[in-house]
Amino acid sequence: CGIVGYVGSKMATDVIMSGLSKLEYRGYDSAGVAINTGSDLVIRKYAGRLSVLEHELEKEPVEGSLGIGHTRWATHGAPSDVNSHPHSNMDDTIAVVHNGIIENYMQLKDDLIEKGYKFKSDTDTEVLAHLIDLYYEGDLFDAVHKVLGVVRGSYAIGAIAKGEPGKLVAARKDSPLIVGLGEGENFIASDIPALLNYTRDMYLIADGEMVELTKEGVKVYDSAKNLVGKEVMHVEWDV
Ligand code: GLU
Repeated sequence: CGIVGYVGSKMATDVIMSGLSKLEYRGYDSAGVAINTGSDLVIRKYAGRLSVLEHELEKEPVEGSLGIGHTRWATHGAPSDVNSHPHSNMDDTIAVVHNGIIENYMQLKDDLIEKGYKFKSDTDTEVLAHLIDLYYEGDLFDAVHKVLGVVRGSYAIGAIAKGEPGKLVAARKDSPLIVGLGEGENFIASDIPALLNYTRDMYLIADGEMVELTKEGVKVYDSAKNLVGKEVMHVEWDV
């Protein structure tokens, strides 16, 4: 399973597909992307090999330079198109990819259904999309931070919002996540090889940290929302 996210000025699907292909060794059963086209969030996701997604993107490309991608190793909900990531809120204005397990998802799902939320999938992950929606007041970072206060379990998360077309938010706990630093572009990924075609400057994200990325810069925060001073790691090796 794996995550790749991109914000910059290249075609996001190119960067994400290239990155996900380098994470295939981690194993997966489905793959998908969510792209902010500037006016919309477009989600494409399919059970099966990355080549299935690649073929669909060739047939009908999705233009946009901000997006998140995912390869899924199903833990909750069978491998299927609907259970593939990214997951979204009811009106598809928020999209999220997740590696790991949300342990208290059943209770959270019941509470959300009580509030009128309608679920599309059988995954634990989908609660994240609806919870971000519940807490969203125009600032994706703040909403994700609130969500992390109520979920238990393991996660690497990437999230985007239709209304914030230049911003990518990420977080990790007990699942791997790194940041790639570029010129006028920035990246997230589960592992270093996913980004070596694009940059060799990385931040290693620690458990409990949250990241806000735009094409101009990357800010890393601890769980109390204090800015963390990260050291750039320059990768010399190749794969
Ligand atoms: N628990 C999530 C699911 O089954 C994420 C699995 C993963 O890490 O790929 O959809």
